[in-house]
Amino acid sequence: MLDYKGYLEKLTKFNENTYPLVNPHLREEIMQIPECSNEQMEQAINDAHEGYKTLKGLTSYDRSEILDRASKIVSDNKQLFAETISKESGKPIKFALGEVGRTIETLKFAAIEARKLEGESIPLDAAPNGDGRDAYTIYQPIGVVGAITPFNFPLNLVVHKVGPAIAAGNSIIVKPAEKTPLSSILLREALVEAGLPENAYIVITGDGPRLGKVLLESSVVKKITFTGSPQVGKLIKSQAGLKKVTLELGNNSALYIDESQKDKLEAIAKQAVNGAFAYNGQVCISTQRIYVHENIKEDLITHLKTQAEKLTYGDPLDENTDLTGLIDEKSQHRILEWLDEAEKAGATIISGGEKLENSIQPTILENVPRDAKISCEEVFGPVVLLNTVKDSDQALEEMNDSQYGLNAGVFTSDLAQALKFGHELDVGQVLINDVPTLRFDHMPYGGRKNSGYGHEGVKYAIHEMTNLKMISLNYK
Ligand code: NAD
Repeated sequence: MLDYKGYLEKLTKFNENTYPLVNPHLREEIMQIPECSNEQMEQAINDAHEGYKTLKGLTSYDRSEILDRASKIVSDNKQLFAETISKESGKPIKFALGEVGRTIETLKFAAIEARKLEGESIPLDAAPNGDGRDAYTIYQPIGVVGAITPFNFPLNLVVHKVGPAIAAGNSIIVKPAEKTPLSSILLREALVEAGLPENAYIVITGDGPRLGKVLLESSVVKKITFTGSPQVGKLIKSQAGLKKVTLELGNNSALYIDESQKDKLEAIAKQAVNGAFAYNGQVCISTQRIYVHENIKEDLITHLKTQAEKLTYGDPLDENTDLTGLIDEKSQHRILEWLDEAEKAGATIISGGEKLENSIQPTILENVPRDAKISCEEVFGPVVLLNTVKDSDQALEEMNDSQYGLNAGVFTSDLAQALKFGHELDVGQVLINDVPTLRFDHMPYGGRKNSGYGHEGVKYAIHEMTNLKMISLNYK
């Protein structure tokens, strides 16, 4: 039976300091978590270096088989993983089960990619004086990878770093969010049970800035892969020196619905409400800004309101629950303050707007000034803004008026318009006839501007965790 307790006990043997882990829904302490010391992180880096050497003894086939077996083990323990996610993050169980399902697939994609680390042949005779040489490229593992992860997808965003690292032949140290360390440990136990060498994946729990600094300052750690807020991401990049860095950061995702969608508004509103309020909007690609053509605005409002008012707040473990407590009180206060600021600046509340136990009612606003924090910053809460536009050019201009650039969605039946949005939206991923709150685990996924630097998505993450090498042979 997989368990995180044994691993936590091992961490506590080195250092007795702990901090309380709180269930965000009830805001009650669940247990104590080891507050690992800097020395423990240094030891973990040395151990991971040994783990990397052990991994060198495994073939791509061996690593692929381990990832496949781990996928099966996670699948056999689906409920345990989902309940662990739910317990530490307050995520409703139906979304937690979805996250586990995606983890199973991500491990399978990593198993496939481990078998496909393919380089290419380079025609050196295409250059003057290059005649008589054959050349080809290979991808080599980078060594020890340091991963720092956020609270909101405590399993799947960890596997998006661990899966590619192992597929590439790297060892990895994960520093999970202080608030959600348990899922990453369970994942480790599944991989070790699947045959991964113990030191190839190490979890170190505790304070982000302090332990992150040890990872960043180590010359043994060759790559930092971070998912989290833009503020921390920028800090990490400024401290990383010549280490490779991937940053997956925040967004204030925009969606445009044009006039051609008049008869599809009920279905679109359903998707948009899910995109805006799933896991209380604590999703990096949560639908935050909706732009709608003026001729269909009133109908859209009716459908959005109807769908939002159906959502139920309650016990995360109840399969009918849609909404639960926000991650902490600080987040709840911040969002209420931003709502207040927007209302004072002229915004109108269409639905919600009030505190709801440890969260906020699912809230729909309109007439929000573009410079209000709730519009131009990332809300990371159950709030969506409705903006009326007269045409697609206005929508495009306003959607791009953002410091972020991760995902954007467009509903239109006009192919030329769809392609225009596809080319001109200043984001990493454009989703035509979908809301922006959509990610499949093998697709390239990365942000522009304050949304990030580099890409994830298993194959793309592998490229960022390997060194490309060229070998040439002069046969003349
Ligand atoms: P956060 O930035 O507060 O914390 C993320 C991680 O960084 C945690 O493990 C934390 O301990 C660590 N950390 C904090 N300060 C650090 C420092 N100075 N040096 C090194 N590490 C440090 O983020 P969060 O509140 O856990 O997560 C929410 C944010 O994550 C949102 O902005 C969200 O958009 C973003 N996010 C992005 C994606 C994506 O794929 N683009 C996915 C999920 C979440």
